[in-house]
Amino acid sequence: MTAAVRTVLGDLDPAGLGVCDAHDHLFLRSPRLPGEELDDPAAAEEVLHAFAAAGGRALVQWTPAGMGRRADALPGLSRATGVHLIAATGLHQAVHYDPADLERRYAGLAGFFTAELTTGLHGAPGGVRAGLVKVAGDFHGLDRHARRVMAAAAEAHHATGAPIAVHHELGTAAPEVLDLLCARYGVPPGRVLLGHLNRHPDLRLHRELAAAGAFLALDGPSRAHHATDHHLFDTVAALVEAGHADRLLLGGDTTTRGARRAPGPAHLLTVLAPRLAREFGPELARRVLTDNPARAFAADWRSP
Ligand SMILES: [Zn+2]
Repeated sequence: MTAAVRTVLGDLDPAGLGVCDAHDHLFLRSPRLPGEELDDPAAAEEVLHAFAAAGGRALVQWTPAGMGRRADALPGLSRATGVHLIAATGLHQAVHYDPADLERRYAGLAGFFTAELTTGLHGAPGGVRAGLVKVAGDFHGLDRHARRVMAAAAEAHHATGAPIAVHHELGTAAPEVLDLLCARYGVPPGRVLLGHLNRHPDLRLHRELAAAGAFLALDGPSRAHHATDHHLFDTVAALVEAGHADRLLLGGDTTTRGARRAPGPAHLLTVLAPRLAREFGPELARRVLTDNPARAFAADWRSP
């Protein structure tokens, strides 16, 4: 079996993935973000056209199940814009769900994740599959919900080979996540993508996590996470200088309507990529935006 990136239009040779926004959202709905729903396919298409015009070729949507991810709209958007789209299964933190809905979901969670990775996404036309499992930690720890979801994600990983992408609350609890997923459940660290770490810019810790083999998915500029923008390049520099350039991923992580208006995912390519090239050389920009995502999202897919 050769490695492939599982897009909403089918499995893709990783060499064909191209310039990739490794963590973003075209659609997202949460009771935590009232009035900020990303739920408009026309707006998503506009974002993707702008991203493609800037040289973008692939975008990974980290919106998990039950949060308005619009799996039904993703294949059409990919066809209309020529941008490869990768969708997620998984669950976010408990606060994003109705408690009764969560209780129902807990039964057979690993099987649900596995089916979405191998058979098709709930709510999408047949055969439109997820390419990653999204999970979420807590502030400096992992609650029962997080542990339950991560156990199921690890099981789905072992059944399918899928990568696991992690939301870290304010950038914390990454060591606890690796302890649980890798040390306890045997997921290889290279299959784990740690999100939002620059919200907690502990560079020594970041170097340890990269040395352990995990990918570090840093947030690009977004109105929602503006607080991290000013140390993004220091974080990149610390990892590059320590020899971990091959562990770095970048994504816009657009989570609200306000964030979508500007700068949006295209900013990654119009502003950040040239600056990466200027500061660290064109080779580094290519690694972070093209080579690393091709490795991070490729899997030797198997079915249970
Ligand atoms: Zn996100």
